[in-house]
Amino acid sequence: MNNAPKAVRLLCLASWGAILAVIGLGFFGCALETEETRLRPALESLAAADLAADTRILASDEFEGRGLASEGEVKTINFLRDEFRKLGLEPGNGESFFQEIPMVLNTVDPAARLDIKGGKKPLSFTYKEEFVARTLRAVEESELADSEMIFAGYGIVAPEYGWNDYQDLDVRGKTVVVLVNDPGFATQDPALFSGRTMTYYGRWTYKYEEAARQGAAGVFIVHETEPAAYPWGVVQNSWTGPQFNLASEDNNMSRCAAEGWIHLEAARPIFAAAGLDYDTIKTTAAKRGFKAVPLGLKASLTLKNEIKKVTSHNVIARLRGSERPDECVIYMSHWDHFGKNPALEGDQIFNGAVDNATGTAALIELAEAFKALKRPPDRSIVFLAVTGEEQGLIGSGYYAEHPVFPAVKTAAVINMDALNVSGPMKDITVVGYGLSELDGYIEAAAKEAGRTVNPDPTPEKGSYFRSDHFPFAKQGIPAVYPSGGIDSVEHGREWTLARAEKYVAEMYHKPSDEFDPGWDLSGAIDDLRLLLKVGYRLAMETAFPNWKEGTPYKAKRDADLAALPK
Ligand SMILES: [Zn+2]
Repeated sequence: MNNAPKAVRLLCLASWGAILAVIGLGFFGCALETEETRLRPALESLAAADLAADTRILASDEFEGRGLASEGEVKTINFLRDEFRKLGLEPGNGESFFQEIPMVLNTVDPAARLDIKGGKKPLSFTYKEEFVARTLRAVEESELADSEMIFAGYGIVAPEYGWNDYQDLDVRGKTVVVLVNDPGFATQDPALFSGRTMTYYGRWTYKYEEAARQGAAGVFIVHETEPAAYPWGVVQNSWTGPQFNLASEDNNMSRCAAEGWIHLEAARPIFAAAGLDYDTIKTTAAKRGFKAVPLGLKASLTLKNEIKKVTSHNVIARLRGSERPDECVIYMSHWDHFGKNPALEGDQIFNGAVDNATGTAALIELAEAFKALKRPPDRSIVFLAVTGEEQGLIGSGYYAEHPVFPAVKTAAVINMDALNVSGPMKDITVVGYGLSELDGYIEAAAKEAGRTVNPDPTPEKGSYFRSDHFPFAKQGIPAVYPSGGIDSVEHGREWTLARAEKYVAEMYHKPSDEFDPGWDLSGAIDDLRLLLKVGYRLAMETAFPNWKEGTPYKAKRDADLAALPK
């Protein structure tokens, strides 16, 4: 505790300076030492063994894969609340550590078939093997009945890039088939969209939002592993079984009756039935001036939904700031994963150890580290464990739209999702690097650790839109997602990238993402020390960081900051 007025504190510093000068450090040494000395107990409290212990608990079978609104959720959020409480943190939402989130749980009957007529012979596709579909509408039955099919290229309306796949097209009541990612990625042409970097227009979420705005009844994305950034197995696992959506007042009736994906090998015969070669039409779709093509086919599909209203929870804890407690820095991780699937043979539990028991455990470790400081930082530090990330950023989206701490007084959000389990790295990758003034803080802390900062090495995967910082960016709050590195100190770059690829192919969103006592978490601890410094410095300032010029998120931040009383 330190409530001494500033002048007294300065005096204390000066006398410390004098003492240190005597032992040979000199006054400037002392001034440099100050932050370091203050941070030392926090930095030292971060330990790989602790991180491993909490990760092991969160990823244990007992926590049942941390599924939403399940016994696993109860165990997870209570565990987090108890840990935060033990550390002496305050509830982050008034009297409560929880923020309730109303959701609809929607389970599609897997007997659904996609039938397509109009070609030489009728085509029929099997749910899960050849296509997946859902509707966000909270209705028990949703259908496409002989809905005319149109190939709408990339399904993008982007005036700033001079692109409109829906130009002069009336798709009301029809079913659009679209490609994943965007023409920039397809052509690798830096003059198209953002070249190799995926724009938000490339994300499946966008494709469905746009199709709904256009009034389409159905929308299917052709799955291809490279532009989607993940194999069909990921689509199968994350799209079948119970799906959670945010409850809305209109029961999401403004969304399409069916939203789905089609396996590439199922899409080819559909195009062939329309007299088209898929690869040829795909190339054409990436060229400026492409015009949508009616396929002359009709799609029918009945989705039988089991609908259930459920409540899930974000967990919020706060270390109250010493000077300006109403301002904050948020550390965030999603606690949820896919729960369990009793239909699977063998292992039925999606333990989500890397994704994201590691990040959730890191929240506890960081909370403990900040508590080890003699005096909390000037601004509050908020630890936010959000729900429903795997279901489409539901918890973070809800918080961003119903913030407990006002957006304008939130200095920054630091998101953690899937920590590095491969040991020390020469670098740190920051998804969202180059977008906001948070860059400078990360660069400084990285430099002190002798590390370099990378932008996202695979921006074509659209990672910036795929984790929980994105809803905060939409609200103007500077948000980054530092995610390990790609250049192992011991094994180099190729080894690290190969490991990451192996994880995506074999474990990502699969029951095999399990805790492994053989992990080297020392690199994750390096990252947490770096992030602790970043958050601490942001919490010791009076300025509010902003987005850089030319980013789509800056206008909202500017407006918020301009409205702040001077
Ligand atoms: Zn994750």
